[in-house]
Amino acid sequence: MTLDLRTLGFVAILSITLQTFALALQWRANRDLSGPGWWALGNAGIMGGLVSLYLMGPMHLGPVMFTVSGIVWTSSLACLYQGVRRFLGQPTRQRLVVALILGVAVSTALFTFVDNHVAYRRGTLALFVTAFSLLITLALGRASPPSRPTRALMGAFVATGAFFLLRSVANFTSVTAGDAPTGGLLPWVLPQTVVVLAVIVLTTLWTYGLILLVGQRRLEEQHEAKDALKRTLGELEIERDHAQATARIDSLTQVANRRAFDEALRAEYYRLKRSGAHKLSLLLLDVDHFKRYNDLYGHPAGDACLLQVAAGLRTVVKRAPDLIARYGGEEFAVILPDTDGAGTLAVAERIRRAIEELAIPHSASATAKVVTVSIGAVSITASRVSGPESVLDLADKALYRAKSGGRNRVDFDHAVMAATNSQLPATGLAQLVWREGAVSGNATIDTQHKQLFAAANELLSALVEGRSTEVCSALLEVLRKGIETHLSTEEAILRDAGYPATEVHARGHEALLARVAEMAAEYARDEVSIGELFSFLADEVVVQHLFVDDADLFEHLAGTSADGAPPHLTRSPAADSKTSPGRRCETPNCSP
Ligand code: GH3
Ligand code: MG
Ligand code: MG
Repeated sequence: MTLDLRTLGFVAILSITLQTFALALQWRANRDLSGPGWWALGNAGIMGGLVSLYLMGPMHLGPVMFTVSGIVWTSSLACLYQGVRRFLGQPTRQRLVVALILGVAVSTALFTFVDNHVAYRRGTLALFVTAFSLLITLALGRASPPSRPTRALMGAFVATGAFFLLRSVANFTSVTAGDAPTGGLLPWVLPQTVVVLAVIVLTTLWTYGLILLVGQRRLEEQHEAKDALKRTLGELEIERDHAQATARIDSLTQVANRRAFDEALRAEYYRLKRSGAHKLSLLLLDVDHFKRYNDLYGHPAGDACLLQVAAGLRTVVKRAPDLIARYGGEEFAVILPDTDGAGTLAVAERIRRAIEELAIPHSASATAKVVTVSIGAVSITASRVSGPESVLDLADKALYRAKSGGRNRVDFDHAVMAATNSQLPATGLAQLVWREGAVSGNATIDTQHKQLFAAANELLSALVEGRSTEVCSALLEVLRKGIETHLSTEEAILRDAGYPATEVHARGHEALLARVAEMAAEYARDEVSIGELFSFLADEVVVQHLFVDDADLFEHLAGTSADGAPPHLTRSPAADSKTSPGRRCETPNCSP
């Protein structure tokens, strides 16, 4: 196969025209990138150089065209070089580039007009092409990290530089025979056809490389944009979570805020309603005489006190599903899901004690020398209340009773328990059954009697079920406080009603309270059996004091309708001892 130079020249022009076209399109599509425009211009220059050489013969263009085409060739390479440096964000090197182009102009003119030496002219031009190829390779090599297209492009320019270096050496060492150099130091001088072929191959390689370079840049930008988007999304998520969390946390005490509490109570209530199997308990706490605390110690000290109270709550309320919240001002709430009455009372009592034991001085308090809390507790079954608001209402009422009962105490709402008394599980547990005939006629006293009943039943259930001494002691304490409140209320009512033996009755109350305290202490020391405790509650507290002693008072009270009938007492077999089952009896004075 013979390749004639003119045909090959035409193919080369066609190939570079197509490449230039592709680079120009790339430039149009990537106007925001600096570089592609220079590459299109560079390739167009190479095309122009080839065209001028192609037309030199037929158009009889003079030797000046050697100089012009030399300048065009190197300027084109200069454009590629500047384009690469711009693309990679490197400073352009105007002076170096201009110096090299001038060098080409001078040397070509020298070997054309002064000493017309075709081999030197070609050798010099090839040397400048090598120099530009080397510069472009170096510029690409400084890109960090060098991508695959960058390395491929470097390879293309290394090949270009090597090829033209060989050509240069071959020409400088050649012997000119007639119009063309022949083999000299090197055994050959590449024919022009090979040079044109090399130009076709090498320019094609650059063009591909340059197009890939832009593609790679776009890909990197896409990745960066994706990463940035991910980062932004991550930051937004963090901000959102933070905003959500802070929107649900009380800024002072760092426990849940009212909003979080409302949502949690609602959620727990409906969960209870769905499952129906458990109980949901709620405690409402209010710091006693907190206004006075603020007035005496100042608002910042008040804030610090609330922080301590919240911390005290955290030491007691530790179960995962439990929630401590600041209900508002100096009021806190604790939600205890799946917790029955005995457990609730135990937790409430533990909280009350924990706050008292914080021993935060409060010399303005009328209740104690330290900061104390009053607690309203309620334990519900879903069927007994109509919604979360009712739970809150019951707890609020219990809190009110704890306040009016003297503060620094727990009041457990037994309304639900009393109402469900008839539905207590038929497990043979010790129970005091309320009879409607046992009413005094005074609403307050009757309510308190019912509550004491329920409290006694809670205690008995806890005892028979074998609950811990701590739980039972807490229940006993609640009962003791309930009795205390009831007796003082009753004394006030009697005084108001002008009952003549009020003082005698009051002394009986004191003795009863002392007995309750004594019983509690004995129980704590494990010196009393369930049977004894049951007898005490049934006979001494309920029957003797609430009904026998009080019976003669009933007629002095407004709306008296009592028939004096004592309550029904049901004793479980287990009530006779802590471990062994026993008899069951249904008379008020039944004793073990
Ligand atoms: P009681 O024993 O009956 O509960 O009386 P109290 O003084 O605690 O109740 P009262 O409702 O009269 O006063 C509550 C006080 O709590 C008044 C208010 O200034 C104070 N308080 C509410 N929120 C904050 C708070 O965030 N920081 C401080 N320092 N005080 C608060
Ligand atoms: Mg309050
Ligand atoms: Mg208060």
